[in-house]
Amino acid sequence: MTTFLGTPGVGNLRGDESFPKAARTALADSQLRHNIGHATHTIRTKRLAAVAECDDWEQLRAAGSALKQDVMARLPELLEQLESNVTRRGGVVHWARDGEEANRIVADLIRATGSDEVVKVKSMATQEIGLNEYLEAHGIAAFETDLAELIVQLGHDKPSHILVPAIHRNRAEIREIFDREMPDAGELTDDPRVLAMAARAHLRRKFLTAKVAVSGANFGIAETGTLAVVESEGNGRMCLTLPQTLITVMGIEKVVPSFTDLEVFMQLLPRSSTAERMNPYTSMWTGVHPGDGPQEFHLVLLDNGRTRVLADEVGRPALHCIRCSACLNVCPVYERTGGHAYGSVYPGPIGAILSPQLTGTTGHNDPNASLPFASSLCGACFEACPVRIDIPTILVHLRAQQVDQKRGGLPSGQDLAMKAAGWAMAGAGRFALAEKALGAGRLIAGRDHRISALPWPASRWTASRDIPEPPAETFRQWWNRTHEGDRR
Ligand code: SF4
Repeated sequence: MTTFLGTPGVGNLRGDESFPKAARTALADSQLRHNIGHATHTIRTKRLAAVAECDDWEQLRAAGSALKQDVMARLPELLEQLESNVTRRGGVVHWARDGEEANRIVADLIRATGSDEVVKVKSMATQEIGLNEYLEAHGIAAFETDLAELIVQLGHDKPSHILVPAIHRNRAEIREIFDREMPDAGELTDDPRVLAMAARAHLRRKFLTAKVAVSGANFGIAETGTLAVVESEGNGRMCLTLPQTLITVMGIEKVVPSFTDLEVFMQLLPRSSTAERMNPYTSMWTGVHPGDGPQEFHLVLLDNGRTRVLADEVGRPALHCIRCSACLNVCPVYERTGGHAYGSVYPGPIGAILSPQLTGTTGHNDPNASLPFASSLCGACFEACPVRIDIPTILVHLRAQQVDQKRGGLPSGQDLAMKAAGWAMAGAGRFALAEKALGAGRLIAGRDHRISALPWPASRWTASRDIPEPPAETFRQWWNRTHEGDRR
């Protein structure tokens, strides 16, 4: 096995805007909030019903979590087993330390076929490494074939959800995009069926002419060398069977030991993602079969920061993620800001932990450094996660890392406020004085009995939340007044 200490991939996953800034812009967009609120509410309700049907849901979650822990404990061994079995069945395995290396491998493989275009199955791993952009820069056109990915691509947009990348678009917006980008689509309406049929006709031509397909993989089975893609539209099945050459880019954490492990994940994943009892299209392939399907198969195993995550005992469970997106649909922060505010390929609660871990943060000015704070720590993500990833604990762990990183620099306003509070609370007399002094806050409270603007450093607090007016009587004063008899 190649030495696999990966470095972060093509640049940073994020743009250069921190989450709080981007979230402010998103919050001002009422149409976006409406689109996302409506969609996540619908998926959330359906998912709850699908999960409630399973009496053994908690046992399934525990089994999924245990399987992933086992995979992480023996990742090198399982990856070597996978490599050996893929090779034995006629596939070729490539190891990529980072996104740049993976992109180069894929582009070279496509060029070697003489083709300058590929069809793609929806894949988070290829989004993570910016494969489409890389291929475009090297003269190769990549056509997304998942309906939502197609909408995003034709709209020159960015995905905003792991499972439903165009969740921020409504029907009218999608019709506008299709009208503009598919001139031969005919008369379009806002009817979802009409829009889907237009996309179908558009994609069918690509499926029938493409010689190369690029996919991700939901699972790679070590014991057999089998790869699996889980999707709902049948576009994946077309890409995985029609072209002559198939190139799969898979994050190294997606390996599972045996075929029977899929029994657990194929119950957890459909119910958690699309609220379906059974996944509509589950494609599995093992190497190459003469005269049947692609005659050339390449598997690119991608590190791109994963071994760094693996080395962190507390952060490691982020690699257990099966990309169901249930945590996004229950997150109050995601619901209000949408996925673009995270600036990361992985938005929502999982993005808040995975993106900074994959790329690392270089300090407080790194946009990824703000992601662990993009959460209310309400715990809804942990409750929803089918493989029991304790996202809130990892968020707190990443926040603590940042505080530690910062030690030695100038103290922030928050540091000073905490020090002052610590000093005041350390002595009964000082605390009593502080209580009395806080009463002055009544002078600056508004008619609504709330304080909404304080001078620096407390302005950092009141910039995003207000404070209730202090009561007219402190606790001690109340106690003394009401318990006077006790002291006699
Ligand atoms: S963290 Fe859990 S809930 Fe979120 S996408 Fe991953 S598996 Fe799904």
